[in-house]
Amino acid sequence: MASVDYSQVPIKEKPFHKPPLTEVADVLSRGLTATFEAVSVAVVECPDLTRPPFNLTTQGLCGDPKLVELGGPPYLVPLVQRDKLYDLAALTRHLHRDPANLVGAGAGPWPHIGVNCEGIIDLSVRNGSVSQGTRIVSVEPVGAAKGSSGYLQRRLPPTETRTALLGNYLLSEGRPGKVLKVVAKKRIGESNFITAIRETLKNHYGDKVVGLGGTFLLREGRVKYHVMPDFSTTALCSDADVDGWLHYFEMKAPLVQLGTLVTGDLDLDLRVQHFHGWSEHGDGGHYHHDTTPASAHYEGYFTLAGSVLRIDPPADTHGLGRD
Ligand SMILES: [Zn+2]
Repeated sequence: MASVDYSQVPIKEKPFHKPPLTEVADVLSRGLTATFEAVSVAVVECPDLTRPPFNLTTQGLCGDPKLVELGGPPYLVPLVQRDKLYDLAALTRHLHRDPANLVGAGAGPWPHIGVNCEGIIDLSVRNGSVSQGTRIVSVEPVGAAKGSSGYLQRRLPPTETRTALLGNYLLSEGRPGKVLKVVAKKRIGESNFITAIRETLKNHYGDKVVGLGGTFLLREGRVKYHVMPDFSTTALCSDADVDGWLHYFEMKAPLVQLGTLVTGDLDLDLRVQHFHGWSEHGDGGHYHHDTTPASAHYEGYFTLAGSVLRIDPPADTHGLGRD
């Protein structure tokens, strides 16, 4: 099946408000204390993200950073649209970006394994050559009678550069540079790590929409993740339907999450936050929240995006499946 031709679909770009990093660090230092007992936010040189525990394909998150939102949940529910395959290497060429790095959360390329899957996207292009660090996670039957549900994480080969349906990525040159470092320990509020950051920024910046992307590590504790099973053959018409279709698992640190958040919609039907994670011990999926607030220990590295590229948005949209 052919991937979407980027010259044939709508692509819109809108700028974000981009305050100084030091100001954002100050805002988060104060605001995150409502959700975490210990908070430390600073502007730092990005650590080398090719090293453990991150093991990404590029060193940093800098160099003309933009957010990219591809497709959307309406291509997944109520029923899948199988023609919505996106080649990310082709996207970097279409956008004339090389070197380029895309990191974030999306649906994996279901044709690669024959079933729907989660994608923890990390793809880089340098002088036309692809480094593929993307992991995919699928639901697998486990147990003697194959009666219960487990999951399987695997890495895509560099020859497989597709994703499907929807995705939220940070696009940059993958260069070293200054980033926000956010450390938060012991959760005392209801929000998850990303919601706490997003709401703190929204409270401060109001209608000036800020977008950021990057990575965060859960150093200690466990999290609730979901993994999508294969496509539903019956229409999923409510959040309860979607919730009943998804498979939920508790997974354990250390886990590396990749994704994006925005504080407003910019009339582009943007998903406000979306992070997927994976681990060297075989875990992976869509991040919801930690399940161990007392021992939760987060360490994030984020860059502010200058703009968002909204690519192939669904014409008929809805609010399902956004959590
Ligand atoms: Zn997801």
